[in-house]
Amino acid sequence: MSRVSNIVPTETTRELLRIVRAAQPIPRIAVARRLGVHRGKITVLVRPLIASGVLREGVPDSSGHGVGRPPIGLSLRSENHFLIGVNIGVKQTQIGGATVDGKILFEENTETPADPETTLAQIKSAIHRHQRRLPDRELVVVGISVAGPTDVAEGRLLYAPHQGWRDVPVARMLDLPVPVVVENNATAAAIYESQRRRRNTAAGTAGDFVLVRAGTGIGVGLVVGGEVFRGTTDIAGEFGHMTIVAGGKSCPCGNLGCWERYASAASAVELYKGGTYRTSTLRFTDVVTRAHAGERRAQTTLDRVGTHLGIGIANVICGLGVPNVVLSGDLVHGWKFIEAPAHAAIARSLCGRLSRWSLVAGETSGSELGGALEVAIEHYLLGVVENVSVAA
Ligand SMILES: [Zn+2]
Repeated sequence: MSRVSNIVPTETTRELLRIVRAAQPIPRIAVARRLGVHRGKITVLVRPLIASGVLREGVPDSSGHGVGRPPIGLSLRSENHFLIGVNIGVKQTQIGGATVDGKILFEENTETPADPETTLAQIKSAIHRHQRRLPDRELVVVGISVAGPTDVAEGRLLYAPHQGWRDVPVARMLDLPVPVVVENNATAAAIYESQRRRRNTAAGTAGDFVLVRAGTGIGVGLVVGGEVFRGTTDIAGEFGHMTIVAGGKSCPCGNLGCWERYASAASAVELYKGGTYRTSTLRFTDVVTRAHAGERRAQTTLDRVGTHLGIGIANVICGLGVPNVVLSGDLVHGWKFIEAPAHAAIARSLCGRLSRWSLVAGETSGSELGGALEVAIEHYLLGVVENVSVAA
């Protein structure tokens, strides 16, 4: 048995920590059921985590129900650490701090400056300000989500087409004494959705799903077996720039007819106005409000956007073979009008007819800062697992 304990995959330990974080305090038997392992193996997995101070085990507050011994719950210990998440959106930047077990310590929103130098200088000064306000806590990781593909290992943003930012060495420019993880915002939202599923679904696991984040652009995150899939070049999920209309509308990425020019929240505003959205003060939520009020033009706009959304999602399902899709981002505000045409477009496709599929609405905005924080927490848990593995 001791030999077995030394070759327990770190993925299992990491998933165990995610499950505990989602449902703490959680009894060992419930962790075993969600992980799909024997109860005896949980003992092997948990022992070094308790010994090294990562987990604690105690009696939950509600001990008054039932007879006999109340269940003993596992929880993460995180008294003195905190993490910072930063979502650098095309228009707005959110900065927030949280404890390892998910308690939000602070949150602030600012406009995103036009250039990366000013943006990162502002973020760095905000991080220092919050560190000074929390002298009793140690900052351990900063997670940053950006609107484009990244080189995660290098902490670099490769390209953010809507901001015109190319090859920005985010981690190096921030120059912080803690790890800085730079992740695409759709991937970050997918990590956030994974944790939401562990918290809210009956199975208590993340499973396999595709997350389509539609705001200014469209990004796609893929989760298989609870783990994010990045491909071998870090650009997996750039479906927003797959061509769906030959010779179609021009895209900031330099191509024509990209999916996000027909199915993002920004493209809906543009379609509604019949011109460019860049000079418009009209927001996507205004179009949705008008549709709810019965305005025909707004309803037709959302119907067409829903159809294009469904066409792209059918392509994604066909390409990836993962039929469960979650919609995230601003477009979710218009779900009432988008759902039916999107479902119809998927149902018409070959893959839609061949397999069971689902398209559901996720959260509209929680996944932005929440995603960046999850990126930080994931990195923290990975460090915990590696330390415990080395100690074992
Ligand atoms: Zn494009």
